[in-house]
Amino acid sequence: VTTFAGRKVALFGLGGSGLATAQALVAGGAEVTAWDDNPDSVARASQAGIPTGDLHGLDWSAQAALVLSPGVPLTHPKPHWSVDLARTAGVEIIGDVELFVRERRVHAPDCPFIAITGTNGKSTTTALIAHILKASGRDTQLGGNIGTAILTLDPPKAERYFVVECSSYQIDLAPTLDPTAGILLNLTPDHLDRHGTMQHYAEIKERLVAGSRTAIVGVDDSFCALIADRIERAGVPVRRISKRSVVADGVYAEGSRIFQTDGGTSADFVDLDGIDTLKGSHNAQNAAAAIAACRAVGVSADDIRAGLRSFPGLKHRMQPVGRRGCVVFVNDSKATNADAAAPALSSYKRIYWIAGGLPKEGGIASLAPLFPHIVKAYLIGEAAPGFAASLGEAVAYEISGTLEQAVAHASADAAAEGQDAAVLLSPACASFDQYKNFEVRGDAFVSHVATLDGITMLVE
Ligand code: ADP
Repeated sequence: VTTFAGRKVALFGLGGSGLATAQALVAGGAEVTAWDDNPDSVARASQAGIPTGDLHGLDWSAQAALVLSPGVPLTHPKPHWSVDLARTAGVEIIGDVELFVRERRVHAPDCPFIAITGTNGKSTTTALIAHILKASGRDTQLGGNIGTAILTLDPPKAERYFVVECSSYQIDLAPTLDPTAGILLNLTPDHLDRHGTMQHYAEIKERLVAGSRTAIVGVDDSFCALIADRIERAGVPVRRISKRSVVADGVYAEGSRIFQTDGGTSADFVDLDGIDTLKGSHNAQNAAAAIAACRAVGVSADDIRAGLRSFPGLKHRMQPVGRRGCVVFVNDSKATNADAAAPALSSYKRIYWIAGGLPKEGGIASLAPLFPHIVKAYLIGEAAPGFAASLGEAVAYEISGTLEQAVAHASADAAAEGQDAAVLLSPACASFDQYKNFEVRGDAFVSHVATLDGITMLVE
């Protein structure tokens, strides 16, 4: 990034994206002084050719900016010491997304840029949009909070599409964020540790859509509905998204059917029924947002429909990984608590449910309304006895102990039944009692499924 060429920049935070940011600044001719509280990170940055030094000793009056890594506290509960130093000296504080935004504005203002935020569904929506764009033959860059740090992507240019997931932290550090299409999916209380109150959290998220050329806002929760009205009054063109009710200008779902409305006229757009990777009403919200964003950057309706149908899904999130006869095997290892397991349990009617691991507070009592979808549960890990007690008389279960046993027994039972069904790993637990993380657990599930006789794998 060249917007700080020849100027002094202080940078704090040398983790993965911080290091990438420092390298981009140095390559663009900025005079960087970088630091981290972790000496290993400082050593690694020095080795990579980044000038490092303790920021306490800097001449702050000479700095053009403090660049912070996402994750370094800006406001709550207490700002990081580097933030205090910059504020006292009147130095602006920004992050990697802001550096990208300025680069784009100067060198490629016509570069289509879609930014996505919200409490839930960000990664899915980001991946879905990128997939639709790529499948239509467009040069597409996917990154931000998901996957690749934004400054390690190819540089912005007119015919190159950027799809960028933004955390609140990144929005907070991007004061001039101005996407071509900005998506705010939903807002529910989360991450309140850093942003203090829901009000403040909502204000940060609002900034992403308020600065957009087209704002796409999910209006199914009251915070977002208010935000849509407010930014529209301020003159921002708004496309509303709903997974349950008709909207006047935007995209909404009725069950699996998605409609597009313009000036009050509604038209059928697509039916998601049969697209395994977009099951469930939460995915109808994600798909509706993706449709609105792709329309906003000029993708044809046919290309969008084709992209929706070929979406491979995200790993470990309700991901169909194999099929044998009428039984589908689904990896939802990302569901590390009961709330996160609810969408998968509501998306299938006959479920052989593999659950358990390291239990979280609250257990699975809140899932009771979905128990009728469960044919039998296969319990693993430390949570097994507790989950057994919660299932009680309501649901048949066995204590399988290990994931391998659970897959073997669940697949045999489902095959014996011979009806449409899902063998679902949606553990409602952390993985750390048996696995390094949820990814390793999901991969283990996939490899056990792959050994079953007669299985057709849907993933590599
Ligand atoms: P994020 O990136 O915001 O964490 P993901 O796309 O990774 O979201 O989805 C994580 C989990 O959140 C999914 O497994 C699903 O259970 C749930 N989820 C996905 N989309 C939505 C949505 N639109 N609304 C509510 N929950 C969702």
